[in-house]
Amino acid sequence: MGGCDGQGCDKQETLGPYDLAATKWQGTNKCRSKNVECTDLCKCEAVRCKNRAISLAQNMQMKLEVKEEVSWGIDTATALNLLFLLPLDMPVALKQEFVEHKLVFAIQQQGIDGFDIRKALDFLQVDLPRFTPQDKELAILMKKGI
Ligand SMILES: [Zn+2]
Ligand SMILES: [Zn+2]
Repeated sequence: MGGCDGQGCDKQETLGPYDLAATKWQGTNKCRSKNVECTDLCKCEAVRCKNRAISLAQNMQMKLEVKEEVSWGIDTATALNLLFLLPLDMPVALKQEFVEHKLVFAIQQQGIDGFDIRKALDFLQVDLPRFTPQDKELAILMKKGI
């Protein structure tokens, strides 16, 4: 794998964002768009390339740069299943916005109960400025589908 023209992998901004529905990165770099890291076959310089974090073991140092905390997320398969519970005529970008930003935020607020998406969907009924009336409707709809 690898072998890109070296374009679009020197900045984090051009590597993403990740498109859940298409299950691939939407950046301009050819390696990243195939969900692979750059290699020695690519035209980019390894020291400037931002698409080699795993192969170059570019880990952050625990405690100095990273704090360890319990956190929840949604795997791609689950996220796709959740997207299918939203209205068919709703634009995919809006569906993703709801799942990635509203639902994941709500899940994070559940602490040790973060594994239960139904509790997060109930939390979306709380009156917070970040939750719109449409978010609340989508949460009800999604909970019915689970
Ligand atoms: Zn590459
Ligand atoms: Zn590269």
